Amino acid sequence: MTVRSRAAVVHQRGGSFTFEDVEIDNPRPDEVLVRIIACGICHTDIAARDGLLGMEFPAVFGHEGAGVVEIVGTEVAGIRPGDKVVLSFSSCGECSSCAGGHPAHCVAFDELNFGDARIDGTSTIWTAKGEPVGGCFFGQSSLADNALTRERNLIPVDDADDDELALLASLGCGIQAGAGTVLNELRPQPNESLVVFGAGTVGLAAIMAARLAGAAPIVAVDIVSLRLELARELGATFVINGLKEDVGARLREIVGDVDHAVETTGLSRVIDQATRSIGPRGNASLLGISTDEVAISPKSPGPHQRVFYSVAGDSDPQRFIPFLIRCHKEGKFPFDKLIREYPASEINTAVKDSLDGVTIKPVLRF
Ligand SMILES: [Zn+2]
Ligand SMILES: [Zn+2]
Repeated sequence: MTVRSRAAVVHQRGGSFTFEDVEIDNPRPDEVLVRIIACGICHTDIAARDGLLGMEFPAVFGHEGAGVVEIVGTEVAGIRPGDKVVLSFSSCGECSSCAGGHPAHCVAFDELNFGDARIDGTSTIWTAKGEPVGGCFFGQSSLADNALTRERNLIPVDDADDDELALLASLGCGIQAGAGTVLNELRPQPNESLVVFGAGTVGLAAIMAARLAGAAPIVAVDIVSLRLELARELGATFVINGLKEDVGARLREIVGDVDHAVETTGLSRVIDQATRSIGPRGNASLLGISTDEVAISPKSPGPHQRVFYSVAGDSDPQRFIPFLIRCHKEGKFPFDKLIREYPASEINTAVKDSLDGVTIKPVLRF
């Protein structure tokens, strides 16, 4: 049995998102079907569309969904039809990383989030003619009216109405990653310096989190003045425009040796800049999707420096997303300032605006 749905299908590498009818499997015993109310667009969706993640086409992407539970499988215990939920990434729930509260480091992370299909290889989405479509993107493929997922992907948000679900959708990936790398991984102490390279969704979330942690100074580096203005509003105490200023010289002037660097662009020259900026005991977290070769010199990182790739900010969505929602309600994490809503039909405009830097975080309303 399948459920007829409308989904944003990408037919070829670099192609546009086209809404068309698809059939989605009814939930297996451990699965849940969610009616999607809103879905954020993240740069990872665009990277997947462009073939950089090795996905098969045609495919349905989308990994920042929020909506209402429609159907639950017979083994699903903690979620019921009608529950309002935010969707996040997939993890197995059984490996030592999952058991230890670090699902972003799940041994099955790649298969569960980038596998095109269920872990047993079966497809979840089909064309009207019955041909398989790549699904299970981040365990959800939520750029669609309905998403088939599992209980572990779902964070209940009890009393949220549709507008709140549209706001909370964006917490599932980029915002969680940026805030998580600061609060879960770098853990700046009050008055330790933190520099963010790239003030998009991930970078701005890192800035808000740095302010929460009491880091100082907080510096944002970008080349788009609009983003730098927003960075200042959200907590950056200094901003540097890389097109107009010598970033290294300015950082030495403002901060000296940087305690914590957050690199979100994935560009090798910026990664180089970020890793060189940190002091002898500094940390650099790399979050950008990179297809560049990155060379690290024999002297860098030094013996007491830490340079690492961050996956989802080492967040456990079940705990971290409710924490971010509480911080937002208390006015300490104003991530709503990043968001612009679009009707789902304007998906390709939303993607373009995101790439052009006109919109930080597009969210589609279904
Ligand atoms: Zn696991
Ligand atoms: Zn993402």
